[in-house]
Amino acid sequence: MEKRVKILNTLKQIFDKEDILVDNASLETYSYDATPFLKGEKPLVVVFPRNEKQVQELVKFASKENIPLYPRGSGSGLTGGALPTKKGIVVSFEKMNKVHFIDEEELVALVEPGVITYNFQKEAEKKGLFYPPDPSSYKYSSIGGNIAENAGGPRCVKYGVTKDYVLDLECVFADGTLTNVGSKTIKWVSGYNLKDIIVGSEGTLALITKAYLKLIPLPETRKTALFAFEKVEDAAKTVFEIFKSRVIPSALEFLDEPSLEAIKNYVDLPYLKDEKIKTILIVETDGYEEGAKKDMEKCISVAKGNNAIDIIFAKNNEEAELIWKARRSLSPAIMKLKPYKVNEDIVVPRKKLVDALKGAYEIAKEFNLLVVCFGHAGDGNIHVNFLYEEGEEDKVEKAVEKLFKYVISLGGAISGEHGIGLTKAKFLPLEVKEAYYKMKDIKKALDPQNILNPGKIFLF
Ligand SMILES: Cc1cc2nc3c(=O)[nH]c(=O)nc-3n(C[C@H](O)[C@H](O)[C@H](O)COP(=O)(O)OP(=O)(O)OC[C@H]3O[C@@H](n4cnc5c(N)ncnc54)[C@H](O)[C@@H]3O)c2cc1C
Repeated sequence: MEKRVKILNTLKQIFDKEDILVDNASLETYSYDATPFLKGEKPLVVVFPRNEKQVQELVKFASKENIPLYPRGSGSGLTGGALPTKKGIVVSFEKMNKVHFIDEEELVALVEPGVITYNFQKEAEKKGLFYPPDPSSYKYSSIGGNIAENAGGPRCVKYGVTKDYVLDLECVFADGTLTNVGSKTIKWVSGYNLKDIIVGSEGTLALITKAYLKLIPLPETRKTALFAFEKVEDAAKTVFEIFKSRVIPSALEFLDEPSLEAIKNYVDLPYLKDEKIKTILIVETDGYEEGAKKDMEKCISVAKGNNAIDIIFAKNNEEAELIWKARRSLSPAIMKLKPYKVNEDIVVPRKKLVDALKGAYEIAKEFNLLVVCFGHAGDGNIHVNFLYEEGEEDKVEKAVEKLFKYVISLGGAISGEHGIGLTKAKFLPLEVKEAYYKMKDIKKALDPQNILNPGKIFLF
């Protein structure tokens, strides 16, 4: 009790009154993120810094008093990354949400971590510029959270993930050092690339207080189409052959038969009525009109050559939106099938897509679970959703472990997007092997007291 009073008294010297939350309802709220059915420890307090100096003072104090800090963006993480694991302070970056500038000559922008990704994209688009990273949560997740998770989305198949757009970061390290870890130049090779170690470090190595981001010209146009198949093998073959035909689509999404069944129960989409349709691909190409059109023609010809039973080409934005509606309806549609789900975001080399899917179906059968698979086929990233009833948690856990071991045996990874956080910490050594100890060495060197987001990525 005395310690809590001391903590609050110090925080009042760093933050304004309205930037400190201690009421029970708020503390309860900040012990959750978007990870289904997982609650963290109730924090002692939630603070909302407005500038990097406050973050620095806070970290110096936490380091002196050995208090855990839990950085948080919008709380949309799916692996418990922002959840407190011990009594400590949640550092919410919601109020550090300024776009400082967008430089149309250098094609860069300086933003604060709490900026919502979609809002930043819209600001850039007004100037004819493009910030491609597009996690499906982009309308509410933050740039800081995206950087900490190295988030990706449908467009990453062509444009890369968040790290490819981060040039420089201003960070506060666990000892209170406030410094930049990248460069304002498009290329640089001076010393260790600390910036790329901070990207994807899930708040365990430093708190990000500013990001200097790369922008590219906004593509002139987008072409969208849906390819429907009777056999999953034909859809998978279409995926490889699109790349073989030297087209890199700007999105290439895959939905399996159980996904389509779930959507049909949830929303009425005219193009899914044919009973023969068992799998669909949603394909997008972009660029200049001529190039995007030519790329799409090549994709259509590949799909025809692989027995597509229906091809729908969107003639305008409205029709494109209708095609994307299938993909966007998936999350709520799935939740109508069973009360609980785990969504694993495994990733395999593209050539192993069919193997990964077959493995997921076999594992689901072995454990008598319903499974729904969909995702970013273009980069081999499949969301495997095991759906279950209350009381089936143990078998789901076993199914997940078996899935991870299988994916690793295919040369894949246990997470393509959502990170390790709390929920996958125990599985990380299975994949990264000896590198696990090198990762731990980095953590110990930069945060010897383990005050930054303890319990995430590592089990200590
Ligand atoms: C419906 C849905 C769809 C999703 N789709 C995708 C997808 O397509 N692709 C994808 O990659 N992810 C996806 N996600 C997961 C999630 O949205 C991303 O991981 C996102 O990047 C998290 O951003 P956030 O601002 O919500 O961060 P939070 O969830 O608040 O935090 C995530 C991690 O970042 C750390 N962090 C946050 N801010 C900072 C900071 N300033 N400094 C240091 N560390 C910080 C936290 O400690 C935590 O470890 C989805 C989530 C949902 C709910």
